[in-house]
Amino acid sequence: MRIVVCVKQVPDTTEVRIDPVKNTLIREGVPSIVNPFDECAMEAALRFRRDYGGTVVALSMGPPQAEAALRKCLAMGADEAVLISDRAFAGADTLATSFALARAIAKIGADLIFCGKMAIDGDTAQVGPGIAEHLGLTQVTNVQKIREARADYLMVERVCEGGYELVRASRPVLLAVEKTIGEPRYPSVKASVRARRAAITAWNAADIEAPEEKIGLNGSPTQVTRIFTPETRRRSEMLEAATAEGLCDLLLAKLRDAEII
Ligand code: FAD
Repeated sequence: MRIVVCVKQVPDTTEVRIDPVKNTLIREGVPSIVNPFDECAMEAALRFRRDYGGTVVALSMGPPQAEAALRKCLAMGADEAVLISDRAFAGADTLATSFALARAIAKIGADLIFCGKMAIDGDTAQVGPGIAEHLGLTQVTNVQKIREARADYLMVERVCEGGYELVRASRPVLLAVEKTIGEPRYPSVKASVRARRAAITAWNAADIEAPEEKIGLNGSPTQVTRIFTPETRRRSEMLEAATAEGLCDLLLAKLRDAEII
């Protein structure tokens, strides 16, 4: 059984800077990390392998530098790593990204696919469900725990408002996971050194038989017309009164003025 974990390399910052002309994220000069949700997905896959067997393959789409993210996964314990990289993938929106990843997964031949709930830079949470749609697979999002695995289905907990749903999902299945699924392990120094020398499979668009019109800009119906940080409109004001009752009266008057009550 092959278990694929989709891993995105993201900028190591919560300070997203935007190029005002191109309307794209400025990635230059920002150190990169493995998307934190994907580290948890990798941890979940490694625990699944421990309990039920299989081979864990880390898969990423990105520029050649994304190899670093895959090496981190190998150091954590992944058996293999695949990077799909091609100039033709550039400018891909979530539809084209999930299409290319789906093609790679079809070539790898997986029975269980893990994604993070979302990537901390793009934040759309669309790629996991997109991959499942392209491959015609069962998908469960917001997964916090795998309760049980059987040959033809998994029992998983899916977070929902106020609790969780217990979902029986037929296999093959794609799970988009919450961080609570597992605290990612720290790779040992020895494992990190070994991972630095490990071979990474590199595929381009032709290798995954991805038609030109379905990848990169050509395969992306989304147009980003403008990206901006919304203006903060919050105001603050100190209310002072000699007594608690006086303070409450002042507060109530303010709320009435603002038509909140
Ligand atoms: P989410 O959907 O939030 O991610 C969910 C999960 O999917 C992740 O946790 C991970 O498991 C998996 N996943 C997501 N992306 C990858 C990946 N690349 N490899 C492996 N697993 C993955 N980005 C660029 O870098 N260069 C561009 O030129 C570019 N052009 C764009 C043009 C348009 C019009 C748009 C809309 C977006 C563009 N993007 C570009 C952003 C790119 O589409 C997204 O980064 C990508 O589709 C992932 O979406 P997301 O970050 O919202 O991931």
